[in-house]
Amino acid sequence: MREHLWYDATQVHIGGEWRAPTGGGQLDLENPSTGEVIGTIARGTGEDIDAAVSAAQAALDGDWGRMTALERGRILTRIGRLVQEKIEALTIIEAADVGKPLTQARNDAVALARYMEFYGGAADKIMGETIPYLDGYTVYTLREPHGVTGHIVPWNYPMQIIGRSVGAALAMGNACVLKPAEEACLTALAFVALAEEAGLPPGALNVVPGLGEEAGAALTAHPGVHHISFTGSVGVGSLVQASAATNVTPVTLELGGKSPQIVFDDADIDAAIPFLVGACIQNAGQTCSASSRVLIQRGVYDDVVARMGARYDAMVSAPADSDGSLGPLISAKQKEIVKGFLEKGEDLRVAGLGSIAEGAPEAGHYVPATLFADVPPDHPLARDEIFGPAQVAIPFDTEEEAVAIANGTDYGLVASVWTENGARQMRMAKAIRAGQVFINNYGAGGGVELPFGGVGKSGHGREKGFEALYGFSTLKTVAAKHG
Ligand code: NAD
Repeated sequence: MREHLWYDATQVHIGGEWRAPTGGGQLDLENPSTGEVIGTIARGTGEDIDAAVSAAQAALDGDWGRMTALERGRILTRIGRLVQEKIEALTIIEAADVGKPLTQARNDAVALARYMEFYGGAADKIMGETIPYLDGYTVYTLREPHGVTGHIVPWNYPMQIIGRSVGAALAMGNACVLKPAEEACLTALAFVALAEEAGLPPGALNVVPGLGEEAGAALTAHPGVHHISFTGSVGVGSLVQASAATNVTPVTLELGGKSPQIVFDDADIDAAIPFLVGACIQNAGQTCSASSRVLIQRGVYDDVVARMGARYDAMVSAPADSDGSLGPLISAKQKEIVKGFLEKGEDLRVAGLGSIAEGAPEAGHYVPATLFADVPPDHPLARDEIFGPAQVAIPFDTEEEAVAIANGTDYGLVASVWTENGARQMRMAKAIRAGQVFINNYGAGGGVELPFGGVGKSGHGREKGFEALYGFSTLKTVAAKHG
């Protein structure tokens, strides 16, 4: 993997310059497929965050702040093209850093390029409005950037989350400070290198890798930050919100989920099966929108569970670069958490069980994919986010019961409904508490155009699509009295 790094991954990137973190601290960089330490990354500090916020403010006060929306859009479009040219290097780096099978890592790199294309095109298409008011007045609104935006991202989809949050923030003319996850920050550093090569002025994007409780906490508490976009766990999200509240800094929280797929007796089962399994198992279940619950109407329950189970039995967890069906988990810590959940399921019926590839390194963080059947809706495996390759099947009889079970957790991120009955599709879409509901599909191919975010403990605010541009801007009303 090292030969694919064309930048110094041991440094922070502030104000257009690569530099050692203040204090010179380094953190180990582990390959989850082998458990081996393959290098180090910078342990950025509060001082580095301070410098990054100053650099971002200087960019706003300088060239970046003076650019037109059209110019910003053109830079983003160029970034997208450079990302596209580096797809193979980004794929290999991400596979080694996150443990993602190559096909999935490549999808993320392609998505990053697509986000830049989308937000590059959208930058000059966000407009205010004129408002009819009293005689003698002209009233209009202006969409303006917040200023300095802080972006804290997790390790599970670094490139996709940087694309949707940093991409939208830059399109609106904000200057960004990005704190990637300590477990996986290599593509965040690659991204800033490509962005500046594409003409992004120094300081418009600063990247400070480091620990959450150090660099992350310094960012959320910083009075010079005007908006925080956080993607991660519920526990840390609530800390972030409390910390930002000290300066009354607005936050967008993209948190966890326990997303249901609901299969009715009249569904096209052949079409559903790949989505029912795939939407949970991709990235070894470490996906915020993983459909870790499948609710199945009694008439097709046995058939659907058997067919899902057969897919599980065929699944092999293997090192990322061998492109098996499943990679390892990110860390030994995550493996322990997931094993703890699997132990809670010891009394449940296992309807499908994958295996670990022969010869997979002992120290890699592999867990076999597991499908549990006949799971009571109030069982911990049916209520809590597992964040591993485990899924539960829950039977139901009526539409009302399905809605009650689907809405019966603290989360509300994504859901899908599988039925050929059009009226039921509409009723279910309204009744389910979630930020996104899919009908006869799941995830709509990841569409960057589709607003995304949660309700309840899945968070608040929306990223992706045009909606993100509203989130990364503030509205000014101008009322002119001209008599
Ligand atoms: P995490 O909350 O542990 O860490 C996320 C980020 O927060 C990391 O960069 C970390 O360094 C930082 N952080 C940790 N403590 C901090 C603090 N005190 N102050 C500021 N920052 C801090 O989450 P994770 O384990 O990396 O990611 C998994 C979680 O993320 C899951 O719950 C998953 O559902 C969620 N997630 C949500 C979405 C979404 O879009 N809704 C997408 C991906 C992941």
